[in-house]
Amino acid sequence: MKLSYDPGDPHFWNEINPLPGFPVGEDVRLRRMVFEPGAIHKIDQILRESGADQAAPVMVVMDATPMHRGDESLKPLILSLLERQGWVAEPLVVLPDDSGQVHASMKTINFVKEHIRPGISVLSLGSGNITDITKHACYLFENETHQTLPLVAYQTANSVTAYTSDMAVLFMGGVKRTLSSRYPDALICDLETLRDAPYKMTVGGVGDLLAFFVSSADWYLANRFGIDPNYTKLAHNLMGPLDQILLAEAQGIRTGSLDSVATLAKLIALAGLTMSLSHATTPLSGFEHVMSHVLDMQAEVNNQPLAQHGTQVALAAVMGVEIYRHFFEGFDPTQVNLDQCYPEESDMQVMIEDAFAMIDPTGKVAAECFSDYRQKLHAWHANREEHPHVLQDWQTIRNQIQEDIRPVEKLVEILRAVDSPLMWSQLSPPITESHVKFAFMNAPLMRNRLTIGDLIIFFGWDREKLWQQVWQRTQNLVQVQ
Ligand SMILES: [Zn+2]
Repeated sequence: MKLSYDPGDPHFWNEINPLPGFPVGEDVRLRRMVFEPGAIHKIDQILRESGADQAAPVMVVMDATPMHRGDESLKPLILSLLERQGWVAEPLVVLPDDSGQVHASMKTINFVKEHIRPGISVLSLGSGNITDITKHACYLFENETHQTLPLVAYQTANSVTAYTSDMAVLFMGGVKRTLSSRYPDALICDLETLRDAPYKMTVGGVGDLLAFFVSSADWYLANRFGIDPNYTKLAHNLMGPLDQILLAEAQGIRTGSLDSVATLAKLIALAGLTMSLSHATTPLSGFEHVMSHVLDMQAEVNNQPLAQHGTQVALAAVMGVEIYRHFFEGFDPTQVNLDQCYPEESDMQVMIEDAFAMIDPTGKVAAECFSDYRQKLHAWHANREEHPHVLQDWQTIRNQIQEDIRPVEKLVEILRAVDSPLMWSQLSPPITESHVKFAFMNAPLMRNRLTIGDLIIFFGWDREKLWQQVWQRTQNLVQVQ
């Protein structure tokens, strides 16, 4: 299905420049995005276009996972292509931590940064984590040295929205945080590489996009309640009729049609760009992502590998849209006693300390969560006088949100159409009901971002009951064939 805006089109930047929400006058460093069969043979050309100097080495950052393209081994293939084209390729292999996975942490970022020298160029050859680690290492190097470092991202899976983003998601003090980082100068999507990536990563990419059906509503709520003045419709314009596109492409995604692989890669690129151009992950990261971050924190403290990010996000998004349904059914703005909707900071601090003591008895995680949470609480209090007007306009808010979100059945239909796991127990590693419940209940407490989960707390809903309802309904839905 044709996209309204094609990031592979040479006119892409001119076309999106006039859209509402595009940051006027901003010079976006990522100019070139290639989504083509055989794009692997353009690495040389794209490195040069990005300012790489062949007189100096190109550092190729990757993990140790073997990858395939057709019947060839991808990483040796790229290294040999580079050398045949006259480059000195310097592979840098990032090793996994105790969990068995490579995590984006300051330790791995510093490891990469220590290998960067003036004059070289960098090719990140991997999926989301490798791209984030490499981007951020380059970003820190450029900031410290005031030197320009050409960075090309070679995307190895249609898995997450990191590749075109100028932010990086890192573990900081045991908590997942998004930091300002940099764009790559160019993105290479070689369609055969993406087609031959493990299918669960592709399914994850579809899942990460489903975040939009919760996050766009959350962002609008945050705007209306006065917490986030930066809301725009840029994401809506760039992502287009996302559910229709995904359903139309589902069969091609499953069977590895290069056209569908390209469309998914472009949607993923648009999602990353939407966040970068909005200067926040908010357009595609709401309740579902905070819930996913809490699940990651639980895995991290237990030295467990993390489940496929996008699929975890998708299952959280399924719960998120179901929360909205319940909220719209049960919330009557005329019955709200606003005086009771502004919890004291000290009470929320105790609640956060109690909640996160379960996963980190040292209190470090709770302290990190509270320091971020309290900013949101302050903003909520600070806008108190506006809130009666917001509630009076509830019908408008409700209409807007109902345009943005999709019923839970639609999300499940998309996931089914791409053969995605539908149950938490099908993730790898499987996630238990008690961990899902912990993340569901505590997601709002970890981050400075208003989502539907915060309204549930501020408006005094019975969260335990809501959990039971949402869990039962989503479980029933995914089990019916
Ligand atoms: Zn994500």
